[in-house]
Amino acid sequence: MNTPIPINPIIKLAVNTQELLRCPICSSKFKLDEAKFKCTNFKPHCFPVIDGIPILLNESESVFSISDYVEQKGTTLKPKSQIERLLVNLVPRLICNIKAKKNFQDFAELLLKENLNPKILIIGASVVGEGIESLLSMPEIELIESDVAFGPRVSMILDAHNIPFDDNSFDGVIVQAVLEHVTDPAHCVEEIYRVLKPDALVYSETPFIQQVHLGKYDFTRFTHLGHRRLFRKFEEISSGASCGPGMALAWSYQYFLLSFVKSPLARGLVKVFARMTAFWLKYFDYYLIDKPGTFDAASSYYFMGKKSDRILSDRELLTLYKGTQSSSF
Ligand SMILES: [Zn+2]
Repeated sequence: MNTPIPINPIIKLAVNTQELLRCPICSSKFKLDEAKFKCTNFKPHCFPVIDGIPILLNESESVFSISDYVEQKGTTLKPKSQIERLLVNLVPRLICNIKAKKNFQDFAELLLKENLNPKILIIGASVVGEGIESLLSMPEIELIESDVAFGPRVSMILDAHNIPFDDNSFDGVIVQAVLEHVTDPAHCVEEIYRVLKPDALVYSETPFIQQVHLGKYDFTRFTHLGHRRLFRKFEEISSGASCGPGMALAWSYQYFLLSFVKSPLARGLVKVFARMTAFWLKYFDYYLIDKPGTFDAASSYYFMGKKSDRILSDRELLTLYKGTQSSSF
């Protein structure tokens, strides 16, 4: 029998969301202890709360440790240096996400068709995602915005390898440009599957042709089919390229130039030069984004799907290839 947890008013999470929380280490429910979250295990696990944000990490399965947050009020994820930020914000960007805005509109519409007040978990919310603004401003959608880093909108710290929520908690999960930064993406998708209600929705984007970003916290890349396979326990609603080959080429050019330099100042200058001379490449993507060749060459791919009982087999997966190459080696 579940005993109701007392509600902690200093936590930034809504009462009905606090009731869905569970310990990321032992999966037991929480009782709240003044400034800490304490689970109901006979050997309770304690988690700190900093400025109303609970730090709910299972340190043994995370590259982050709780002390990073307590001691530094931040994570070891280093922001760009000031000089880099200043220089690169003055010039046109190389990034051009063509599909995200429309995809998030479709995602919100589908959610609201099923539920008047859907509850959504955003994983990776410390930076506002590309194209997500309209969804963030819909009052009928309840958002739980999480990350491994603090940010203006983040209400809790979690690691996607151990999502500290009960099974079947959410109507939707958004995981945009995150799965390349986790050490075990398949495990994280299992966790996403677990916390979604039956028939609930997921939206994911991951890079394919993009060089290392976020430094040491960058582990893997996915083809369109590789990304689809991660979500094989989901029925596909839509998928394809979100950023195209033009952006991929511009990034490659920028990183080719960056490979000659090291210091923050030189990196900043090279970025400015690369952007000024290559920003126009991204406009090809408006033409290329849905072309078959883009399934072999995109900068990133998206997948929108519905939690299902059926698992896509690997032989079926191969039939979903949409690129232009023959299968001969
Ligand atoms: Zn516990």
